[in-house]
Amino acid sequence: MIRLENVSKVYATRRGDVRALQDVSLTVDRGQYAAICGPSGCGKSTLLSLIGGLALPTAGNITVDEMLISTASSADRARFRAQHIGFVFQLFHLFPFLNVLDNIMVAAAEPRDGETLDYARQLVEQFGLLARCHHRPAQLSVGERQRVAMARALLNRPSILMADEPTGNLDPHNAALVLDEIDRFHRAGGTVLLVTHESPAAARAQTTIFLHEGGVARRD
Ligand code: ADP
Repeated sequence: MIRLENVSKVYATRRGDVRALQDVSLTVDRGQYAAICGPSGCGKSTLLSLIGGLALPTAGNITVDEMLISTASSADRARFRAQHIGFVFQLFHLFPFLNVLDNIMVAAAEPRDGETLDYARQLVEQFGLLARCHHRPAQLSVGERQRVAMARALLNRPSILMADEPTGNLDPHNAALVLDEIDRFHRAGGTVLLVTHESPAAARAQTTIFLHEGGVARRD
């Protein structure tokens, strides 16, 4: 379960403080598929980065799968993230100089672990990338790049998948492929947090959290 209690996040900048989230309280049950929607700048990405322990809240508590991530050390958060959370981003964030298999394997805790390598190869096949296995990102279509990013996110068998506009750069066919893989992860028992502007993506979720100006405006 993911639980936020009175969470606020303020970014201190040279031009003054930016209030990205204000007094947000919400829960997402284990195995739930939640979409996070709202206009640009309302705090969606900040919410994901706090839940993923990439940043710390200015106030409030965040518990993720029994771990109080909002007060954990940076090393503990990194370990927790590697074991429990997979991330997918709109812009893929692949290494340009690595091929498909190596881009997936960068997520491995122990890169020479044979079992992990076998699983990476299994994911390559599952994501229809076998013929592209030794290609670098520049030699792939954008749809293939996002499938590599999805495979990398799943390598450590996370319990939570966080996707930030994962279909934002994809055509409808490739968007559907990525959403199908998110569905598959969810059916296998995974928790999904999907930030999206697009209604076909949000329609797949069980619950939608609408943010507005850093607060939860509504939940369906
Ligand atoms: P969304 O994902 O909904 O577009 P964000 O979480 O990216 O919203 O941003 C929420 C607010 O916080 C925006 O006003 C944005 O400009 C600001 N913000 C986000 N990250 C930073 C940062 N690192 N430093 C300063 N302000 C930031």
